[in-house]
Amino acid sequence: MKKCINCDAGELIPVEDITLEIEGYVFIIKGERCTKCNEEFPYEEETEKTIKIAQKLGVWPEPLKMYRHLSKSGNGLVFRIPSDIEKQMKLSEKKEIAISKIGNKIVIEQMS
Ligand SMILES: [Zn+2]
Repeated sequence: MKKCINCDAGELIPVEDITLEIEGYVFIIKGERCTKCNEEFPYEEETEKTIKIAQKLGVWPEPLKMYRHLSKSGNGLVFRIPSDIEKQMKLSEKKEIAISKIGNKIVIEQMS
């Protein structure tokens, strides 16, 4: 049983009817849904597919919620920025960023 990371009480069950509405286009994708709070977690590859289609249609949404796993590196955790965002914001290792914590959100701002 997979516990929900949103409410920490429900169970995540696989579903095939998560609807993602982007600029009037409705996408039905696969993922997991919490039995308690109903929060939906689309599978990463499904989200990527949807983004590709949305881009083809010219309806790339902003902001888009994306789900990623953190990976371990040394003593810390590493967050990989999705390549779409990297390209869109022209990010590089020379750019300076600011990280702030707002409630349970982590906001990454581009400084230069
Ligand atoms: Zn939940």
